[in-house]
Amino acid sequence: MSRFWSDVVHTLTPYVPGEQPKLDNLVKLNTNENPYGPSPKALEAIAGANQDTLRLYPDPNAEALRAAIALAYGIEPRQVFVGNGSDEVLALVFQALLKHGRPLLFPDITYSFYPVYCALFGIDYQAVPLDPAFRIRPEDYRRPNGGIIFPNPNAPTGRWLTLAEIQGLLEANPDSPVVVDEAYVDFGCESACGLIRRFPNLLVVHTLSKGRSLAGLRLGYAMGDAGLIEALDRVKNSFNSYPVDRLAMAGAIAALEDRDHFDRTRRAVMASRGRLVAELKELGFEVLPSMANFIFARHPARGGAELAAGLRRRSIIVRHFPHPRIEAFLRITIGTDAQCRVLVDALKEMLA
Ligand SMILES: *Cc1c(COP(=O)(O)O)cnc(C)c1O
Repeated sequence: MSRFWSDVVHTLTPYVPGEQPKLDNLVKLNTNENPYGPSPKALEAIAGANQDTLRLYPDPNAEALRAAIALAYGIEPRQVFVGNGSDEVLALVFQALLKHGRPLLFPDITYSFYPVYCALFGIDYQAVPLDPAFRIRPEDYRRPNGGIIFPNPNAPTGRWLTLAEIQGLLEANPDSPVVVDEAYVDFGCESACGLIRRFPNLLVVHTLSKGRSLAGLRLGYAMGDAGLIEALDRVKNSFNSYPVDRLAMAGAIAALEDRDHFDRTRRAVMASRGRLVAELKELGFEVLPSMANFIFARHPARGGAELAAGLRRRSIIVRHFPHPRIEAFLRITIGTDAQCRVLVDALKEMLA
């Protein structure tokens, strides 16, 4: 603490990301990174961009990248906004679109950055409880609100809404901005992107961190009606004109163009997920259905904190949340099959 702090700093409870320990030989299954690495074409493009041009500012409007995203999703560049990771895009979304007289709605168990943004920007919100099976119930969002946000699939549960359910939610809330955070959509879920044309209140947020294995590059984007994008641009241009650097722009375009690498690696993650779920069930775990690159599991005989600590002693790190409704659960990132093997063997030993 220091006497030079602004008043607001005292009131903040910052988000705590999963740790990034600097240890070798760690089986790191705690922050939903993709084990397969980015497209080699993205790495080449980044190396190619790392030339004399770094002397110059990047394109403040990121035209080439927005065109590449628009092409990939069949929309127009003016329906795309890009930022330095989707966390930054979300921060701008909260400021630009989710602060209204009525409370913002999001699930009680969800991405824990949402309440942090609300505190930072002074946004009133209501946490809507997931049902007993940890599902979002769309009918619970038929109440007065100033906006709605949820991840699909949800984090950290992995459970998802169908496109028809999202459409119903949009139809029931025509006067509210509805933000679907699709950080994990690449692992089996259907994107709501195709609904943008019909619903001017829909904003879909993506990241290259998970599906494209580029968490270190920091690139996220939002897709929606041009009116929503204009709001994001207005806030961004009051804050940072150049959030996306030249290397990120080059790498992101190449990664989006390399469909083969994308499809191969996400299919590998989905296949490993199926095998891991089966093995954990065999060990007695209850595993929630997941369309993400992680699973959420609990064991009837062992607590979540105890299991996480036991795994850590064996150099395997997973995520445990001390929230009362979910403290029995572990959130486990889908690693390579070799990493899943190490995890299952360790759990077997601990449960014996
Ligand atoms: C990982 C994650 C993000 C943030 O992604 P970045 O682009 O790496 O900032 C956003 N939303 C959810 C639900 C996530 O899990």
